[in-house]
Parts: sequence; C-alpha cells; structure tokens
Amino acid sequence: LGPDDGLLVIENLTKRFGGLTAVDDLSFAVEEGEILGFIGPNGAGKSTTFDCVTGTYRPTSGTVWYRGEDVTGVATHQLVGRGLARTFQSFRPLRDRSVVDNVRLALTPDRLFSLSGLRGTTRQRAVEMCERVGLGDRMHQTPSELPHAGMLRLELARALATDPDLLLVDEPFAGLAGSEVAELSDLFESLRAEGITLVVVDHNMRGLLSLIDRAVVIQFGAKIAEGTPEEIRDDPTVQEAYLGG
Ligand code: ADP
Ligand code: MG
Repeated sequence: LGPDDGLLVIENLTKRFGGLTAVDDLSFAVEEGEILGFIGPNGAGKSTTFDCVTGTYRPTSGTVWYRGEDVTGVATHQLVGRGLARTFQSFRPLRDRSVVDNVRLALTPDRLFSLSGLRGTTRQRAVEMCERVGLGDRMHQTPSELPHAGMLRLELARALATDPDLLLVDEPFAGLAGSEVAELSDLFESLRAEGITLVVVDHNMRGLLSLIDRAVVIQFGAKIAEGTPEEIRDDPTVQEAYLGG
C-alpha cells in the first residue's frame, strides 16, 4: 500500500499500551466513495485505530495517509479542517445546552476558518444538521431528553456539521432496535450518495453486511479478512473468530 491507494491509507499501524498491543501492524485503504465496514469483536482495536487516525493517539509505529499526504500524528482539529471527521462510541454532550447548541459547538474555529462561508451562520448550519439526522423536532430539548437512538443521531449531526469528506463512525448500531438500524443505514446511504466516504464500525457483522461495499475484519488488533460482504461472510477465519468469541 502507498499514499495514493485510497482516500485514507493506513500502513503497518501499531499502537501499544505498555505491554498490550491494541493495534498490531494493521494495513488497509479506504476508497473514495465507499462505505467500508470495520468489524471486530469487543476489544479488537477498532476504536484505538480511529484514535490513531484522528489524532487522539500518536501511533507507536506506522503511517496514516489522507488524500495522499502523511497525516500521522496530525492534530484532530487540523484533520477536521481537512474534512476528516469521526464520531465517538461513548460521546458525552454538554447536558445544560440544547441539542442544536451541542451541534453548533462542534463547529470549531479552525474548521470555520477553512470554510469561511460558514462564519456567522453556524446556528443555521447546526439547525440544518439536526434536521438532516432526523432531530429537527427535538433540537431545543436537552440531550438527556433524547432516547438512545437520538443521542447517536446527535453525535452524527456534530460530525456532519464539520462538512466531512470522510466520516469514521464508531459503533452507531450498538443498542439499537432493528427498525432503528434500518433507518440509520438509510441515512448512511444518503450521506454516501452526497459524496461522503464512510467507515462504519461494528462488533457484530450481521447488521452491517447489507449496508457496506467492503469490510475489513480485525481480531486482537490485526487484520484477519478483507473483502466484499459475501467474501467476509464465507471466510473460515472470520467464522472461527466469531464462534470462538
Ligand atoms: P474496540 O473498539 O475494538 O472494542 P479498543 O480499541 O477500544 O477495542 O481496545 C483495544 C484494546 O486496547 C483493549 O484491550 C482495550 O482494553 C485496550 N485499550 C484501549 N484504550 C486503552 C488505553 N487508553 N490504555 C490502555 N489500554 C487501552
Ligand atoms: Mg470501540
């Protein structure tokens, strides 16, 4: 893999916490315009991989390329300014602010600088993002009034407010009912149709296979399979990992 092999290219990424190797020599590319599933059991290293890509952690070794540029260790706000956004698995909103204010606060000065047309219109954009994720009728409530699915939508609206080209979504389906999974999948499809490339994490591949174009499956921080949903489903190593887990 090289810098130009995808919109995002991760090469030989390793992250150690003391003696624990959370991400182990992981390499894969994200192609522009796709929805990539990033699948693995709990503790496999999915969130840590996102943390290394988006500037929360500096990787122990390895390289991250975005749009052909080495962005290893680049600060989160700079990556957001370049159109690389993520959601967090356990996102904590500001409890005493409204839903729409929580979205507005995601529009950092750095991002506004690179999107100068947005300056002064952040509230309007935040309102639009609330509507985009289906929270239009709840945007004046506080986050604690939202159901679980609403919290996930709020976190998505915060990421979308920064106008990403590539959006890394961490476990959006956790704890959702089937109908909510289907609704959220439709939303991801429409975001992709608008030109946003998506990486969607899940610890269980079942709900994800109908949504994604390709998947990368990891276990103990290392890649065990990569391919189309059919290839993943039929892969003996994947089946073993999930039966064993
Ligand atoms: P996943 O998102 O796939 O469930 P994580 O990336 O959260 O997995 O965690 C991978 C491994 O790294 C786990 O064993 C976890 O306990 C460990 N880990 C994650 N973050 C830290 C940290 N900050 N310090 C020490 N260990 C961590
Ligand atoms: Mg995780």
